[in-house]
Amino acid sequence: MKTLEQLVRPNIEKLTPYSCARDEYKGEKAKAFLDANENPYNTPWNRYPDPLQHKLKKKVARIKGVRPENIFLGNGSDEAIDLAYRIFCRPQIDNVVAIEPTYGMYKVCADINDVEYRAVPLDENFCLSADKLLAACDKNTKLIWLCSPNNPTGNHLDAAEIERILQSFDGIVVIDEAYSDFSSHPVFRLQIDRYPHLIVFNTMSKAWGGASIRLGMAFADKAIIDLYNKVKYPYNIGLPTQEKALEILNDPFEVDKWIRLLIQERNSLMSALSELSICEKIYPTDANFFLIKVSDAQAIYDYLLKREIIVRNRTRVALCYNCLRITVGTKSENSALLAALRQY
Ligand code: PMP
Repeated sequence: MKTLEQLVRPNIEKLTPYSCARDEYKGEKAKAFLDANENPYNTPWNRYPDPLQHKLKKKVARIKGVRPENIFLGNGSDEAIDLAYRIFCRPQIDNVVAIEPTYGMYKVCADINDVEYRAVPLDENFCLSADKLLAACDKNTKLIWLCSPNNPTGNHLDAAEIERILQSFDGIVVIDEAYSDFSSHPVFRLQIDRYPHLIVFNTMSKAWGGASIRLGMAFADKAIIDLYNKVKYPYNIGLPTQEKALEILNDPFEVDKWIRLLIQERNSLMSALSELSICEKIYPTDANFFLIKVSDAQAIYDYLLKREIIVRNRTRVALCYNCLRITVGTKSENSALLAALRQY
């Protein structure tokens, strides 16, 4: 296994990070804060937020079963994705390997960072082959991207195959568990102590109902979190986001209720859709959405659009020809979708 020093870009290893006012003076109280060129009026919005979000991380740690020093918080998981490239991948030299199809931002961030992206197709049931992924790696492969439950396919990836990758690959393995709250399969978030090169993502945007506040999470060994903190913007999470996240996280029972309801709704919606003649196949899912193969995805997408029902047409995505991705909504939204499709 390579050491973390061998995996990090040399410029990041050498980097002296920016030290902001709130890094230098960490106290919460003082007679006068005259160190950050803030306006003394308009409390509390006049003050810069805690750059390392200590209070929020303490709360996240308790809920997620990890230690605060193993958490990075980002402006959505999208920030954590981009930073993984900026920390580990030398532009035009290194490469990453990912399953296909999967969440599009892994590739977009590779392109932005000028890093080669090697997409390895899942099989026709969207299952992962560790061997195929490992065969695509070479000495310059820094990251492997996995997403479980996967987007847009909805299924979880086989844990034994993931373990094989974790045991054989000598770089960083990222597992995006954005949808894991909807799944009953064990989470790799709780395995970060066993695998020092594993990064797991969660987000407030899905089960926690907080997409608008933009809060993503990365869980990893402290040495990796230290690198994230070195590279991130100094005050990357605003005070309104930190406060709203604390409020949302205070009510995990409400979230559990949403999850139960959405899974129930998902199952009845899938079973009703499977009866329709337009439905060729509905793929198994562990998420709050599912992929349905229909007779003509574009025509059905356009038909629903005219009725102001918006689904995602995934027909141009690898292995998803004629597939629509449907997010589970409220009971009445799901009924509207079903009624419209029954009339198609
Ligand atoms: N990961 C996956 C797998 C996703 O599907 C999405 C959003 N669709 C994200 C991450 C983005 O999450 P965030 O809102 O935290 O940036």
